[in-house]
Amino acid sequence: MGKIITLLKLLPRLHQIILSVLVMITIGAIFIPSDDAEASRSTNTSLTGKIRLGEQAGSGASGENTTNDTKTNGYAYPVPLAFRTPEPPSADEIARNTQESGSLDLNGSLDLNESALTQVTDNPVVEPEEERESSEEFTVRSGDTLAALFKRAGLTARDVYEITQLPKAKKNLLKIMPGEEIIIVKDDAGQLKRVVYHLDPISTLKICKDDKGYSEEIIKKTVESRTKFASATISSNFWNAGVGAGLTPNQIMQLATIFGWDIDFALDLRQGDNFAILFEEEYADGEFLRNGNILAAEFYNQGDRYTAVRYKDGNYYSDEGRSMRKAFLRSPVDFKYVSSSFNPRRLHPVTGQVKAHRGVDYVAAVGTPIKAAGKGRVIKSGYNQYNGNYVFIKHNETYTTKYLHLKKRKVKQGQTVKQGQIIGTLGSTGRVTGAHLHYEFIVNGVHRNPRTVKLPQSLPIDSKEKSSFLALSKQLMAKLEQNKQVQLASQ
Ligand SMILES: [Zn+2]
Repeated sequence: MGKIITLLKLLPRLHQIILSVLVMITIGAIFIPSDDAEASRSTNTSLTGKIRLGEQAGSGASGENTTNDTKTNGYAYPVPLAFRTPEPPSADEIARNTQESGSLDLNGSLDLNESALTQVTDNPVVEPEEERESSEEFTVRSGDTLAALFKRAGLTARDVYEITQLPKAKKNLLKIMPGEEIIIVKDDAGQLKRVVYHLDPISTLKICKDDKGYSEEIIKKTVESRTKFASATISSNFWNAGVGAGLTPNQIMQLATIFGWDIDFALDLRQGDNFAILFEEEYADGEFLRNGNILAAEFYNQGDRYTAVRYKDGNYYSDEGRSMRKAFLRSPVDFKYVSSSFNPRRLHPVTGQVKAHRGVDYVAAVGTPIKAAGKGRVIKSGYNQYNGNYVFIKHNETYTTKYLHLKKRKVKQGQTVKQGQIIGTLGSTGRVTGAHLHYEFIVNGVHRNPRTVKLPQSLPIDSKEKSSFLALSKQLMAKLEQNKQVQLASQ
């Protein structure tokens, strides 16, 4: 006990009082039956640590080092000490550290206590190894030259000259753009030490000045690719499902593009349709950099299963190796523009009745771009009072597509068009009550439903690549399936 009092003298007065109280409690706790100690713990958790001190000092129990019981409503929950709020050591903790050593102190030496005390109370002061330097970030302004920015940074004309003699600096710093940042580091005498300029998210140009003169290097972060999984079931619409799965707008559009030859994302999706994808994420030095490609995807649309696997040629193929690209897009309008895409029995925009209709209507904002469903030749680009502005495209002897009520036509009669080329914008010209695209798909002179018509099969992957592709496809689709199972199990 005498040793503890000696120790108390090392502490400030307030801590002395607290510690004195603790010591009293400690002594009390040794003699009070353990049930009482438990009661105290359940009524005031903030006391837990203090009372525990008493137990440790008294019994030297080592089993409680890792967990600490907290009682709530009569149940005891083990609370790992690691979950306690990490804070700078408080007077209590200093006391505890001391006291814990103090339990050793009963048969150990005072030196132990002092070292424990010193260790906790001393604030570690980190002395900078190098001389002090100050770093400041300068934003390139409109019309800035490197010389102007350096002048603003208080650098000498000689610094500018010497730096622009370095080849990498010359190449990159003489074409700085407004908004870019240049970091300038000086020593405490105001002399230039470093210039740091981020060339892109991965590469940084670093120019150093020391006794030997100026030097430069480009530092590159290590980029690694990780494979991620996402999946969703559509309940309101595809966009929301994609967002809900954590996909970016760009990834949602990519997914729609991959399956855009098979599925009309504007009109053919139904509640319960679902998808799962594997995609790349790139990390630079462990920090998220950007999303990479979709590697594999599976889409269930109205009970039909579609798959896509990205091959090293950058193209997507079904898991069996058929090209995703086909002669026709399922929809000439990107789904993101189309409203009421979940209304299979939509009303005709003119008559207000559901009726047999030789085409498909896409309701969207005036000005929405309209794409050629396939490559072909424009056989009509004109205007009349019924069709408004219209474009007809003949793809070959079998297939013709027609686009009506356009606001603007962007192709001329006789012109050839590529698949996906913008041929006009959606409008409300001709006999209509509201803006929409009326789209017709004609096979051998007969109007067919473009959303269900059997389309020419696409070519499979090159035979030389087939076995290599199938191995990749098998591996990715297995991984996709495995992730789906894991997710199902966790729901
Ligand atoms: Zn129509």
